[in-house]
Amino acid sequence: QAKSQGRNRCCMYDASSDDGQSKRANLEQDLRQAIQQQQLTLVYQPQFHVGESAPRRVEALLRWPHPVHGHITPNEFIPLAEATGLMADIGLWALENACLHFLHWRRNGLELEKLAVNVSAIQIDGHFARRIQQILQSLQFDPHWLELEVTESLMMSSTTEVARQIEVLQAMGVEFAIDDFGTGYSSLSKIKAMPVKALKIDQSFVAGINSDPNDYEIVRAIILMASSLNMLVIAEGVETADQAEALQRLGCEWMQGYFFSHPLDSDTLFNQYRR
Ligand code: C2E
Ligand code: MG
Ligand code: MG
Ligand code: MG
Repeated sequence: QAKSQGRNRCCMYDASSDDGQSKRANLEQDLRQAIQQQQLTLVYQPQFHVGESAPRRVEALLRWPHPVHGHITPNEFIPLAEATGLMADIGLWALENACLHFLHWRRNGLELEKLAVNVSAIQIDGHFARRIQQILQSLQFDPHWLELEVTESLMMSSTTEVARQIEVLQAMGVEFAIDDFGTGYSSLSKIKAMPVKALKIDQSFVAGINSDPNDYEIVRAIILMASSLNMLVIAEGVETADQAEALQRLGCEWMQGYFFSHPLDSDTLFNQYRR
């Protein structure tokens, strides 16, 4: 119940209503303003290695606390940003600010191994790698600390340009993870050839792990495949002890979800886990 209140409350706009069109236009205007006025924020969800109570990794997640409409969920404003040309700026803003928080934690006694940042396919143009390199260099942020989460479809359909950008970043030490893994149409042979360090099991499979035999088998197969390919596997959306236990029994070593921690703002994360 608590989940439907408080920090995760959000509002959806009904696009089918008569004024859906104008609401969308207003929302686009608001989003432009939010970017200019730095209203977007980031929260961080810890990722835990099995059996450990302190996180070693975090994933950065965007938040938009709208002055009138309350919290607008990324599942709503990111598609809007992608459709209106705003995603490139938002994406770079998120990356730079997440790096700044990560460095701040490090300097003050919370040393994490990895910062994961989501990347939208639309961000990957011919300048992508260079822009990221500039940010990392100017912040003196070690590229090995950064993991970029991309979708399965991006990795599968990747054009030579996308592949080139990814290669440049990897050569610097940046790692890649496939988000929501299992929901796309990856072929085994392609996954093997892909320059990917980690697979994130989609939360829909985790949700059904103890109730749906198909979900259980899918999770089992993903974990087996990842370990035989020397990839790291991270379960997302772990909400209960039963789910965590089932995942651990199947050999999943990394977990993320409300059972362990909700996404936290930078200070809360720092205060909770600093040594
Ligand atoms: P995602 O990257 O797959 O992130 C996981 C989502 O699941 C997050 O939702 C997170 O808050 C939520 N979550 C975490 N633990 C649990 C759990 O135990 N149960 C359930 N039911 N949900 C859990 P959020 O923050 O609303 O983000 C939604 C999506 O928006 C993300 O999915 C990601 O695709 C996208 N997104 C968020 N931040 C960024 C960003 O900076 N850039 C880009 N391109 N996309 C982002
Ligand atoms: Mg993600
Ligand atoms: Mg995901
Ligand atoms: Mg998702």
